[in-house]
Amino acid sequence: MEKIIDEKTQGNTLTLEAREGNSRKLYIESYGCAMNFSDSEIVASILADQGYNTTNLLEEADLVLVNTCSIRDKAEQTVRKRLEKYNAVKRINPKMKVGVLGCMAERLKEKFLEEEKIVDLVVGPDAYKDIPNLLKEVEEGRDAVNVILSKEETYGDISPVRLGGNGITAFVSITRGCDNMCTFCVVPFTRGRERSRDPQSILREVDDLAEKGYKEITLLGQNVDSYLWYGGGLKKDFKNASEMEQATATDFAQLLDMVATAHPRMRIRFSTSNPQDMHEEVLHIVAKHPNICNHIHLPVQSGSTRILKEMNRQHTREEYMKLVDRIWEIIPGCSISQDMIVGFPTETEEDHKETMSLMEYVKYDFGYMYKYSERPGTMAARKLEDDVPEETKSRRLTEIVDLQQKHSAIRTAEFLGKTVTVLIEKESKKNKDEWSGRTEHNNVAVFPKENYKAGDFVNVKITDCTTATLIGEVVGYS
Ligand code: SAM
Repeated sequence: MEKIIDEKTQGNTLTLEAREGNSRKLYIESYGCAMNFSDSEIVASILADQGYNTTNLLEEADLVLVNTCSIRDKAEQTVRKRLEKYNAVKRINPKMKVGVLGCMAERLKEKFLEEEKIVDLVVGPDAYKDIPNLLKEVEEGRDAVNVILSKEETYGDISPVRLGGNGITAFVSITRGCDNMCTFCVVPFTRGRERSRDPQSILREVDDLAEKGYKEITLLGQNVDSYLWYGGGLKKDFKNASEMEQATATDFAQLLDMVATAHPRMRIRFSTSNPQDMHEEVLHIVAKHPNICNHIHLPVQSGSTRILKEMNRQHTREEYMKLVDRIWEIIPGCSISQDMIVGFPTETEEDHKETMSLMEYVKYDFGYMYKYSERPGTMAARKLEDDVPEETKSRRLTEIVDLQQKHSAIRTAEFLGKTVTVLIEKESKKNKDEWSGRTEHNNVAVFPKENYKAGDFVNVKITDCTTATLIGEVVGYS
């Protein structure tokens, strides 16, 4: 969930400050969506209480964990290669234990443990609190596995450590699992049914982050707009809740309002919004609070109503366009980004052209685009033949990536000559004399450091830009 997949962070080994007295070493690597990176922080937090400090040196690790992604076949192949590497190290250091976490756990547990015997530990996304017990099993020489998906688990009571963070921006999980059953998607099978986290525990986590000096949070879930707290339990069981529970339930608009009101100086983002669950109330809350960023990640996956129906996306092309119009009416200038899949089964040239014309209509600020990858167990895999040839998928992908580049360039250039507020996050990778940060519209901006520091909100006059980056100079604090 991103869910935002930043290719630059894939496979990052994230570490945190050592806790005194901890003597064992944990090496944890994460793949996939933002949700996985956030989960790794929960795991590191649980293991810090078990005597583990993190390391970024594989060779010195007592425990190696890889938090895996199943969303596309390529993601799984990458992880399998990493497992080969861990096993080569294990031959030199036989005491080292290797565990697979996350979305590949359920699907491949037997293969990993029994057939290939390459891992000691397999833990699904809802079983992280069981890791201490599972580690005992491993120490006693048994393979350990827990891939049970839960109706309740939201890790609301765990205060996650922040792995590899900049101390400025953080993810806060608000929902787990997904009920949308998009026919291409493996998430409902790997992460289970949708449940929401207690708003009080979310607020406590944000309070804690604010106290530690964080300046921006992203509320995270596969489908944040579907957030619904009625005392705990699955979203699908809401209809069976008592009248009292239903009447006092908290939805996403209310949660967003609560968080933004409690922390007017904290910048707030959220991801991912599924168009079918996005209500206008949320848009009004975004418009009402200056600290909620005017950016909506609104995956559409295809511009063809026929394909959207095959994908079970529960909205048409026209309904999506209307939603985009409403976003701009209620939040003028709001930036919108997309996820798109090319080559879904039966996708014709005509369908592909509809995707391109929808992109022309929205002129997304940026997007994440993928070739359809058939996932075992999904409805599409069971019912539809993966019939779009690989060359066609590649060509269509190139076409939409090129179009997106053109649109990103147009959107970025709209800021030329304007002054925008930027939260300074880190040193620019290209120039150590420059800061890099993001605007509320999620554009990266770079500018001379002067006397400003990471964590400052500054006003930057934009004088130049590339396709995706704003270039400017600071005119003062915001
Ligand atoms: N929950 C979000 C939604 O429904 O819009 C996104 C979840 S998913 C982790 C991130 C993106 O991966 C999706 O938006 C989709 O574009 C892509 N994706 C998911 N399944 C895929 C598949 N089988 N093949 C290719 N891309 C896929």
